[in-house]
Amino acid sequence: MSVLKKDAMAIYADLHMHTSCSDGLDSPQALLERASGRGISVVSITDHDTFKAYEQANKVAEDLGIELITGIEVSTFYKGGSVHLLGYFVDGDSAAAKKLVESNHAGRLERMEKILAHLDRLGYQVDMDELLVFAGEGTLGRVSLARFMVKKKLFRTTEEVFQKVLGDGKSAYEAVDRLSPQVAIELVAQAGGISSLAHPGKNLEEADLDAFVEAGLDAVEAYTPYHKDNETKKWLELAVSRHMAVTGGSDCHGSLWRNHDVGAAGIDIVMMEELKARAKLATCGETGAGGICNEAT
Ligand SMILES: [Zn+2]
Ligand SMILES: [Zn+2]
Repeated sequence: MSVLKKDAMAIYADLHMHTSCSDGLDSPQALLERASGRGISVVSITDHDTFKAYEQANKVAEDLGIELITGIEVSTFYKGGSVHLLGYFVDGDSAAAKKLVESNHAGRLERMEKILAHLDRLGYQVDMDELLVFAGEGTLGRVSLARFMVKKKLFRTTEEVFQKVLGDGKSAYEAVDRLSPQVAIELVAQAGGISSLAHPGKNLEEADLDAFVEAGLDAVEAYTPYHKDNETKKWLELAVSRHMAVTGGSDCHGSLWRNHDVGAAGIDIVMMEELKARAKLATCGETGAGGICNEAT
């Protein structure tokens, strides 16, 4: 596998983006229309801890002629920080997928109360009821809170909120009571899907990868705007050496972040086919021989 320059590579599939059903700014329709306009053939919406976008997205994608792959991004707790795990081709109605979604919602309200108490001590008053209205159907998390604090003119930008009070280890930080990456990997497999480690270059090393591979991790998100070229290369090589698949995506949260807009990163058709072949194999492992398992891969 060769490392391709981002601009030289045809983005066939963007497999990482968020709608207003979690912490993105676009509706599923707006996001898919942008993808279609940019000639992207395959998309996965990977909202945090929810499949809600698919209620609308499946129909829109069909109308636009885009292939939509069911996806989710799950926040897990690892070594005192968070690790994001992507699940693709998962059956959202399965018991394992429900467990994946619910485990993270339960702790969010409680955690937000603790964060607001920290902020209060630091001199920033945020009203929980107002915040809940502001977050609406989206994820009750640090991103919504940061946006709300900017709206309330407590800070100028969301980046500033994270740098000063909300970032990992900062004075108002609280972790959500979360799954471990290993359990989340297992649940994705049980839900018939394949798992990929999201933007690993942000906070992970080779030794961490091996612990996840042992738990059954299928792929690595080598192509992401968070990675510099040398990091993309490093994670591609790590994936190849462990016989893993490669995923990629923009991590779009809205068109305001130009470096992360739809199509800013992704994979080509060859990598996408490899991913599909693995998904087929994973399904066969779940159900035994027969059906799609007999098709040539
Ligand atoms: Zn993420
Ligand atoms: Zn994301």
